[in-house]
Amino acid sequence: MNDCRNDHTSAGPIVFRFRPPSPTIRRPGLFFDRDGVINLRKSRYISHWQDFNFTAGVQHAVGELSRIGIPIIIVSNQAGVEKGLVSIESLEDLTLRFVATMTFSGSSISAVYYCPHTPEGNCTCRKPRIEMLTLASRQFGVDLSNSLFVGDTISDVQASTDAGCTPILFSPTRDTLHDCCQRYKELPAIAWNARQVVAQVQRLLIRPRRYP
Ligand SMILES: [Zn+2]
Repeated sequence: MNDCRNDHTSAGPIVFRFRPPSPTIRRPGLFFDRDGVINLRKSRYISHWQDFNFTAGVQHAVGELSRIGIPIIIVSNQAGVEKGLVSIESLEDLTLRFVATMTFSGSSISAVYYCPHTPEGNCTCRKPRIEMLTLASRQFGVDLSNSLFVGDTISDVQASTDAGCTPILFSPTRDTLHDCCQRYKELPAIAWNARQVVAQVQRLLIRPRRYP
């Protein structure tokens, strides 16, 4: 956790890095949305650790997927930061705690990227825009065209496809399924629970083996 950095500049995303950058390697990456995927989407803005509840089975699933050896990166819109509802300090505290908890159960998270901006600000990083994905691609040598993105909203699916990744729609309560299926007639993968996320990732990775 010592090399965690907050490279925040007001223009771009906030980055918490837990693994050293590896820009010269080229390999697939595995992206996850945060709210609704890693943790339950309980309120609009989560700023305290006591309000952060992991999705059932997600720690075990990400732990298992970490054994593949490719970068696992979380990308999340957090407009509450610019709205003044979530402080940078709270965001950092929450991030360090959930990453430490996941690390303890075998997960290897390379970095967490947050867009702190409101939709009205028209920034370049808020999903469905793809700057967080392209930045992660440059910093961690991720080949987006061979990467997967597990998300629970249309915005995630759109960012994923616009960046050239393959989306996996994670919809444990099935509440976003209808909208996504209306918009995307052929979703490559749907997962109802964490165990299915593991199965879909293993099925879809172009070269499902350990990467150096
Ligand atoms: Zn942004």
